[in-house]
Amino acid sequence: MSDDVITGPVRDTLLPYGQQWIDDKDIQAVVDVLRSGFVTQGPAIQQFEAKVAEYVGAKYAVAFTNGTAALHGACFAAGIGQGDEVITTPLTFLASSNCVLYQGGTPVFADIDMHTYNIDADRIAERITEHTRAVIAVDFTGQPAELDKISMLCRDRGLVFIEDAAHSLGADYHGRKVGSWADMTMFSFHPVKHITTGEGGIIATNSEEFYRKLLLFRSHGMTRDPQEMTKNDGPWYYEMQELGYNYRMTDIQAALGNSQMDKLNAFVEKRRTIARAYNEALGELTGIVLPEQLAGAHSSWHLYVIRWLPEYFKADRKTIFEALQSENIGVNVHYIPVYLQPYYQHLGYEEGLCPNAEEYYRTAVTLPLFPKMTDQDVQDVVQAIRKIWARYTRSVSGENPIK
Ligand SMILES: *Cc1c(COP(=O)(O)O)cnc(C)c1O
Repeated sequence: MSDDVITGPVRDTLLPYGQQWIDDKDIQAVVDVLRSGFVTQGPAIQQFEAKVAEYVGAKYAVAFTNGTAALHGACFAAGIGQGDEVITTPLTFLASSNCVLYQGGTPVFADIDMHTYNIDADRIAERITEHTRAVIAVDFTGQPAELDKISMLCRDRGLVFIEDAAHSLGADYHGRKVGSWADMTMFSFHPVKHITTGEGGIIATNSEEFYRKLLLFRSHGMTRDPQEMTKNDGPWYYEMQELGYNYRMTDIQAALGNSQMDKLNAFVEKRRTIARAYNEALGELTGIVLPEQLAGAHSSWHLYVIRWLPEYFKADRKTIFEALQSENIGVNVHYIPVYLQPYYQHLGYEEGLCPNAEEYYRTAVTLPLFPKMTDQDVQDVVQAIRKIWARYTRSVSGENPIK
């Protein structure tokens, strides 16, 4: 393969790292709702909730304006408040730990496992104190965390298990779908995720108690159910029982979600096919670590992350990242360990807290992965990786750079 810079980039247009797939059926579904009597608080929401609940194998689902609001709701339902500690992973999007702060609680970071990059169940156990109330695990890249171990640990220690499954809609663990392993499971419908509602999120749960709390929280802490009210002044009467928010999804979004759900299995299959293609094409490149999958974990592949081990390259990750960008490959980095953010540093979290997450962060590059990618797009990514690998590889003493 030629590694001549003057041959120009591998492709002429930027390939993003993720993108939604919206077809005419989706558009029609949204138009139908716009023409109906309800644009919010109508039947499309309940249809969407029922559809997601059934798909993930949970009794209940409560839709929210976005995944972050849904996580906030889960922390509320779990009873997180001032003085409570919640154990979570540093290798996630900000929302998984911000939701704890919203409720006045304290996020406690447990380091990741370097094989899966998921929170290490043994590290969770080490971080439990008398103040611990809950665990928020993230199914990083779409590979489920050790859901059996973590749910058992939470049951034994009386903790609420919240699963941030923003990456793992459609994934399963030991043959059972993500969605009923934890006490509450959050899915996000941001456009880069498996299906989209523009913005949107949902909590799946089997607990009637959590379900009721989530409904209250989503709508001002308010109920109109006479069974739940302390008194009843008349047919107009409603009661605010908790401090809630307006976190309601619209029917316009839910209509899109309903239509997108019909394509979910096909989307997940396509993601798995692309991940397999990357595995096959990139496996021989020494110094690049491909994503490892645990037995029993069946990822839905939100992200495909490779790591460039620094000792094998003449350039650092930033140079490699920029070189891939110059090839018009929309690479990304997921994620900056949350506690390294200035806001968290001001709260007193210090660098060095989770060495694995920090090592991961220094070497990771996310490759484009979304269902609408063509075979040519996949080949472009592979070709760009090979080109940049060849440009910067260096043999480590006594080793052949080609495996
Ligand atoms: C996307 C995402 C969220 C937040 O979801 P939004 O719908 O964007 O609010 C939370 N956690 C993780 C891991 C995510 O990837």
